[in-house]
Order: sequence, then structure tokens, then C-alpha cells
Amino acid sequence: MIDFRSDTVTRPSMEMREAMACAEVGDDVYGDDPTVNSLQAYAAERLGFESALFTATGTQANLLAIMSHCGRGDEYLCGQSAHNYRYEGGGAAVLGSVQPQPIENEPDGSINLEKARAAIKADDFHFAMTRLLSLENTIGGRVLSLDYQRQARAFCDDHGLLLHLDGARIFNAAVKSNCDVTEITGHYDSVSVCLSKGLGAPVGSLLLGSKAFIDRATRLRKMVGGGMRQAGILAAAGRIALEQGPLRLFEDHDNANYLSAGLAGIPHLEINPDSTQTNIVYARCRTGEAEQLRSYLADQGILITAGDPIRFVTHLDVNRQDVDRLLGAIRHFYQS
Ligand SMILES: *Cc1c(COP(=O)(O)O)cnc(C)c1O
Repeated sequence: MIDFRSDTVTRPSMEMREAMACAEVGDDVYGDDPTVNSLQAYAAERLGFESALFTATGTQANLLAIMSHCGRGDEYLCGQSAHNYRYEGGGAAVLGSVQPQPIENEPDGSINLEKARAAIKADDFHFAMTRLLSLENTIGGRVLSLDYQRQARAFCDDHGLLLHLDGARIFNAAVKSNCDVTEITGHYDSVSVCLSKGLGAPVGSLLLGSKAFIDRATRLRKMVGGGMRQAGILAAAGRIALEQGPLRLFEDHDNANYLSAGLAGIPHLEINPDSTQTNIVYARCRTGEAEQLRSYLADQGILITAGDPIRFVTHLDVNRQDVDRLLGAIRHFYQS
């Protein structure tokens, strides 16, 4: 099977499996796992924060971030299409009693800061207390500009808000922005990062921030059942993902560009190749046959996410040849 559904489908390399098998471990709830501790220290250094916390998932890292920044009855501003608003089961509201205030994302994925300002609640007992702005980069494969993120920091400073980044794919953003990841992270109070997407680890994410923030998040992680014991088995793979994964993301971006150029040549599909910025490609099926296309491709051993638009994601387990097979199969579908 060639799997274009997501970059979460990547399988751990032999090097990762060997590192996992040989990892030195201890009980991480006691703080005794040397491999987890070393990953957290390395990650904090690499991303420019005081402290880091290894978490089971990106969803958990975002939940801990919102709950560590906000208390019961507080509110966070986020995009209408933010992962931590739409796709995380409403966790911040359900488990944290933190109210989301979603704001329609601009076409480039940013949140208009004038709209954010208008959404900040006055200090009045009728209202929740606005504490946090949460951004996402990349968002739907699009990159927030460094300039915008600088403005968002200044905006938060002006209005006494904290600033969180859902950086599940922050290294894709850094590659596209042609900068070190710390030029992005430097603007934020906290950042979550997925190790289990394009970076290639089988499981795990990281949350980064100040020591006091990570201490609060560690308490909450235990509360939500995320205190894992010999987690060094997973952290060993995460370490390789964090060290080596970022170096090859440009290949995924090249393959995504190649794919979107190919798709643009298929008249049944509507795609703006300029909108492909990182490893995610969206195309609309003009004939409304997305589901039939998905099913046809699945019969050919190729998996995609049908929908409007259709989504294709490139990652370390698909190469240029796989993209050519995908393009050939799509052309064949529309010709027959
Ligand atoms: C994947 C993803 C997450 C977290 O996903 P998990 O499956 O919980 O690891 C968070 N935010 C964004 C933008 C994502 O793409």
C-alpha cells in the first residue's frame, strides 16, 4: 500500500527499532527514565525553551498547554479551524473548563489580530477571562510568516495574553520559512510538537515552555492518565526523529510540489499549485467523484483522504516513484 492519507502513517526505521530495543529505561513517573530525561533536555535546548515534557500525543500536549495556561472559567482565542478546537474532542472545554473563542481563520491560516482584539472580553463578571491566544503552524499545510508571528507576540504582550503554538508540524514550517526552528519558537510561551508525523517516530509529542509551566503540565499529564512508566522505549525513537527527521522534510515538500504540479495538469481536478507550501496538497474534484476516486485508488493499493477537498500528504514512506504511481492512477481513473 502507498499511503497518502497522512504523515502519521510513517513506520519506525530499523535504526529506531534498534534504539527502542536497547533503550536504557526507568520509571518516568518517578523521573527516573534516562532516555526520556535526555530527550526532554535535548528538545528544550533544540527548540529554545527552559523545559520540555514528553507526551503520549499532540492532543495531550495541546490539552496540557491550555490547562496549564488557563484555569476554570478562563478562555482561549483560537482559529475556527484550529486542531485544538475542532479535532481534539473539545478537550480544553470538557476536561479543563476552559472556553474556546474561535475566530475565522484568514485564507493564509493566520488569525486577524484586529478580530482577535475585538474578541478579547472586557473585565466584567458577565464574561469569561481571556488568557491565551493559540496559533497553529503549519495550519492545513500553510505556513504563518515570521513577520505575522512577531506581530502576534507584540499583540499578546500589549493585551496581557499568553501565546501558545500548536506546532505539530513546526519543523515543516521552519523548512519552508528557511529559518532555524528557534526563530519561530522564540515568539511563544509554549509550543507543542509532534514526533509521530513527518519526523517519523511511532508515538509521542513534546510540550515546551518555562520550567514553572512544564511543572504544571507534568501534574496535569499525570491527572489525565499520561504518566507513562518505561517510556524511554518510545523516547528513544523520538530522539532519532527529532535529530534526523527535520533534515529530510524538504524531500516531502519537493514531492508535494511535484504532486501538485502533476494534479494541476488533470482537467477534472481543481488545484492552485501555489497553495502547496509544505507536505500537504489539496485538490477539488470538479465532477464530485472524490469517493469513487478514493475507492478506485484503494483497489490499486493507493490510499488517500477523500473529501471536499481531497487531501494528499507526503512523508518519509512515499517517494517520487510513488507520487508518479498516484498521478498515473488518477489520470487513468478520469480517462476510463
Ligand atoms: C496531528 C496534529 C495534532 C495532534 O495529533 P495527535 O494525533 O493527537 O498526535 C495537533 N495539532 C495539529 C495541527 C495536528 O496536525
